Amino acid sequence: IEAVAETGSTNADLLARLPAGTLSGPVLRIADVQTAGRGRAGRPWLSAPGASLTFSLAWPFKGPLQRLAGLPLAVGVALAETVASLDVPVQLKWPNDLMKDGAKLAGILVETGTAPDGTLWAVIGCGMNLVMPDDMEAQIGRAVASAPWLARMDRNALVALLLSRLAAVLAEFDDTGFAPFRDRWNALQAWRGEPVNILDQGNIIQQGIAAGVDDAGRLLLDTPGGRVAVLSGDVSLRLA
Ligand code: ATP
Repeated sequence: IEAVAETGSTNADLLARLPAGTLSGPVLRIADVQTAGRGRAGRPWLSAPGASLTFSLAWPFKGPLQRLAGLPLAVGVALAETVASLDVPVQLKWPNDLMKDGAKLAGILVETGTAPDGTLWAVIGCGMNLVMPDDMEAQIGRAVASAPWLARMDRNALVALLLSRLAAVLAEFDDTGFAPFRDRWNALQAWRGEPVNILDQGNIIQQGIAAGVDDAGRLLLDTPGGRVAVLSGDVSLRLA
């Protein structure tokens, strides 16, 4: 476990070590402040000193790479179940967000790489809002959730709880893939039964009623033409 006062992005820090082959086992890197946090497709992840939890976990996997498509969802299950066990009710928004009161509480970013010895690694980043500075919503341009109850907890204790459940989920996921986590994910799904749009770079590419995820973590949508399964890729989900 590495704790640093400030860095650009904990995900970027860990990914940068992969080519040199200097990661020998799982590493958790946590930063008090991230100055260049990012979400998927290079979108910014904002955080403020003392207001956020930002950490990344580098973890080796047996593979194959395609199996890791369901990893962000399994990570969501681990984080959401931990937060829920602390009396903060949350839901999972496909594919990679924790929602509270209809707004984003936390985001998950999974990036992968291969070490020189051929080992497949995932770097799993999480940014969670504990308290939100007033100007954060204006900067992001959308409603944002926070969890002041968690902010009052000892931060090391909170990270330890998140990490221990996450480690258990990752060890199981490496053996089984996403399938055994499907029902746990579906039990926490946000917007289940609601009309939603799938957006790719701002354009609606699919519409339907959200109906859970399948064994591979694909979002099932009920459409007038029947049920379709949507691969996460870089698409975003919105209420219609
Ligand atoms: P979307 O939330 O638009 O469906 P996404 O799930 O792909 O997309 P990510 O790329 O994972 O989102 O995260 C980046 C986005 O999250 C940013 O574009 C911004 O809208 C939002 N965001 C950035 N910082 C925060 C934060 N601290 N809390 C909540 N949302 C944030």
